[in-house]
Amino acid sequence: MFDPKVETLLNKQVIAEMYSANLYLSMSAWFREKSLDGYAQWFYVQYKEEMDHALIFYNFILNAGGKVKLGQVDAPPHDFDGTKAILKKSLEHEQLVTSLIYNINEAALSVKDYKTVQFLDWLIREQVEEEDNASTNLERFELFGSDSLGLLSLDEEMGSRRYSQTAQVAVLENDE
Ligand code: MG
Repeated sequence: MFDPKVETLLNKQVIAEMYSANLYLSMSAWFREKSLDGYAQWFYVQYKEEMDHALIFYNFILNAGGKVKLGQVDAPPHDFDGTKAILKKSLEHEQLVTSLIYNINEAALSVKDYKTVQFLDWLIREQVEEEDNASTNLERFELFGSDSLGLLSLDEEMGSRRYSQTAQVAVLENDE
């Protein structure tokens, strides 16, 4: 059972993570159009991870006796002002997501909902990694991305990223 405010925020977060997924898939498409297939791969993996995050929240709501209420996911942008603008936007987006998760944590603490506080622990740590990845991508682009050879090398490096299902999703799916 949940406090209604916490339950609403958790449901909003499912939608926010789906929006993140679509945002990164849209960025991935932009990179593919520009033949930056390594960046496209990196953002495609990011899209898959965001869908995992959505499912992690979804599973938690259900496992803890709440009601899942899916809602409309806003359309992501499809036109971007270049690679640097995308990298900057993805960092800002992760900072926003961190603040949303902190808000849920504060709401949960205010009603002594410790199961939600404990659940959010992993996601708060995950956000440290997400922000770190996004700022590293931006910094490396600023350092090396200004000439075509540097960009080629960065694109190759970004393309080495592979998706593996977040352990958290597998654990929760096995609990069903
Ligand atoms: Mg996420």
